Amino acid sequence: MSTQTTRKERFAFVRHLWQDEVANQLSEIDRLVYRSNKLGEDLTLTNTGGGNTSSKLSERDPLTGESVEVLWVKGSGGDLRTAKRDGFASLYLDKVRAMKAVYLNDPGRGPKTPIEDAMYPMYSHCLFNLNPRACSIDTPLHTLVPYKHVDHLHPNAVIAVAASVNQERLTREIYGDEVIYVPWQRPGFDIGLQIEQLIKDHPQARGILLGHHGMSSWSNDDKTCYETALEIIDRAARYIEQHDRGEQTFGGQKYGALPDVDRRRMQSEIIPWLRGQVSINKRFVATVQDDERMLRFVNSHDGPRLADLGTSCPDHFLRTKIKPLFVDWDPSTRDLDRLTQSIADGLVQYRKDYQAYYEKCRRPDSPAMRDANPAVVLIPGLGMIAWGKNKSESRVTAEFYNCAIEVMRGAEAIDKYEAMDQQEAFDIEYWSLEEAKLRRLPPEKELDRQIVVVVGAGAGIGKATAHRLVKEGAHIVCVDLDEAAAKAIAEEIIDKYGPGIGVAGTGISDCGPAIGLSCDITNRENVARMFADIMLAYGGIDSVVITAGIFVPPDKTGRIEDTLWARTFGINVTGAYIVADEAHKIFQKQKLPGNIVLTTSANAVVAKKGSLAYDTSKAAANHLVRELAVEMAPLVRVNAVAPATVVKGSTMFPRDRVIASLTKYQVPFSDEESDDELRDKLASFYAKRSLMQTAIEPDDQAEAIFLLISPRLSKTTGHVIPVDGGLQDGFLR
Ligand SMILES: [Zn+2]
Repeated sequence: MSTQTTRKERFAFVRHLWQDEVANQLSEIDRLVYRSNKLGEDLTLTNTGGGNTSSKLSERDPLTGESVEVLWVKGSGGDLRTAKRDGFASLYLDKVRAMKAVYLNDPGRGPKTPIEDAMYPMYSHCLFNLNPRACSIDTPLHTLVPYKHVDHLHPNAVIAVAASVNQERLTREIYGDEVIYVPWQRPGFDIGLQIEQLIKDHPQARGILLGHHGMSSWSNDDKTCYETALEIIDRAARYIEQHDRGEQTFGGQKYGALPDVDRRRMQSEIIPWLRGQVSINKRFVATVQDDERMLRFVNSHDGPRLADLGTSCPDHFLRTKIKPLFVDWDPSTRDLDRLTQSIADGLVQYRKDYQAYYEKCRRPDSPAMRDANPAVVLIPGLGMIAWGKNKSESRVTAEFYNCAIEVMRGAEAIDKYEAMDQQEAFDIEYWSLEEAKLRRLPPEKELDRQIVVVVGAGAGIGKATAHRLVKEGAHIVCVDLDEAAAKAIAEEIIDKYGPGIGVAGTGISDCGPAIGLSCDITNRENVARMFADIMLAYGGIDSVVITAGIFVPPDKTGRIEDTLWARTFGINVTGAYIVADEAHKIFQKQKLPGNIVLTTSANAVVAKKGSLAYDTSKAAANHLVRELAVEMAPLVRVNAVAPATVVKGSTMFPRDRVIASLTKYQVPFSDEESDDELRDKLASFYAKRSLMQTAIEPDDQAEAIFLLISPRLSKTTGHVIPVDGGLQDGFLR
């Protein structure tokens, strides 16, 4: 193998992304970051959060000033694609190497022995420069491979070889003596030492294939290490494509594809019910995928058999569970009752199987059984519905099951697919080091796992509410008549919080923590379609906040046209009712406690001149809250906030209304003043009328709305909370 030539042109199935002109400008540690990012960028090389890289570099010791060897290795739980320098752990190499003696001196050593797990915390004694990043559990491999650079990846094509019945023979056939084979064993010192010995015995080897796991490459030159990884993957992919079974992939198609519109309709009808079923312990968020590849699998003859065997690679089943729920249903019947029954039966069996797997494989010190519901549900004709504690996690679940399918396809093309041994799978799923990873996660926020629809999110109170609730962990569906405004708020949220991790194939719900939708709430069909879109994006709803409203001033004679009267009621009362009523249908399918919050007004109880239609509509809205609370109890709580005039950020206060109000209240102003200045003037006038002498802002309403949908006010329904600074006339009685 020559380090001089670039083998770019020889790769057919992977992307060679290394650029010397970039890499050569970088320091050695930044070259490691660069190499990691380039590996992570091509999804055929590794999955989200999977794989790790390392370099053994000379650094200056902060105490002695002397040059020391440091092992830089990707931190636990990080992602190669997005890793930065702080994503890497740094360990004194001589200290890490000294750990080998500690391990060898323990007479009870071996795979899965107490000393294996006791080694991991010892890395804390090796920290270079007080770097707090926890190192990968694959660190023994990186330490014991006697080369400067090591890349360890989980590529589908290589795992397909590694998950074939004849994996060892295939490794020889594809790579000759250039790649060593080692059968599956849980990461740790024992397998690290085996690999060290294998490399000694096979000095010509440039990499290793790890049964049911992945591969590693090594070199004393970092670019060569990168290119070797690419070559190992490309050769496996090439071999698989030569044996591709074409039409006969997964035994051929058992069911034909449904028209898009039928498929989408059935998905959006079944998903909220399914969400309720899988969320009996904790709520989950969905990612739906129904592209051609996914449909080829769920519609195939062999899909159910292969899925039932379970997944093959630890990284996969930690997210997807050992196997998915494959629903038995003939999509050509379009019979949703049969589908519901079939999923219900499937879930009962799935939970029993999971319990049996736990009971059979558990050790005396195993952690308690985790949630027994499936993380992946496969439905012929409809595709995959993957679940996670939030959108980002469900996308990763989806991504990993795509990997699992791709592995099955490859393995079945070249040989026969073989799932991981159940006990081995269990020992990974319930491994104390994996449990420790879970415990390192930050505690969940109050609205984590929840999907909140904010109607009227484009401005004012709705916008403030969207920003307030996302802080508590909620996914936000920003809805507005003005589609551009709704989408702009969703983008603001994504810009601030990021799109999340994970890239699901070509799913229809590849969205981040927020989406923007348009809706005319006075049109029931429009509202129903909006909710159907939400089902496909997130799988359900937990709260609906309605802030959309309209204020129509009377004409110069003090009259309101009948059409404007009707429009005021259409939006402020009927629209709110239609949204609540359509939401109720979904809440009933989910059977999970939910919330509806309306925005009424202090004016609902204060009669005054000049806002007859508005005030009357808000009075009706106050009573709508009570009626809905009665109708929807005990499943859904229905409450409202009643703001007093919120001037700031409100679309209900255009310049001429502000001027009209200032004139009416005899507040002096000049035509020269800007819109904002005039609004401030009016806001401070209103502030002075309140007991608290303070202006009422959108953020104040958002805070009250958060309280109403949070568990903090879980015993309040049918009520209206004034957020008006204290208006004596507006006191509720
Ligand atoms: Zn690995």
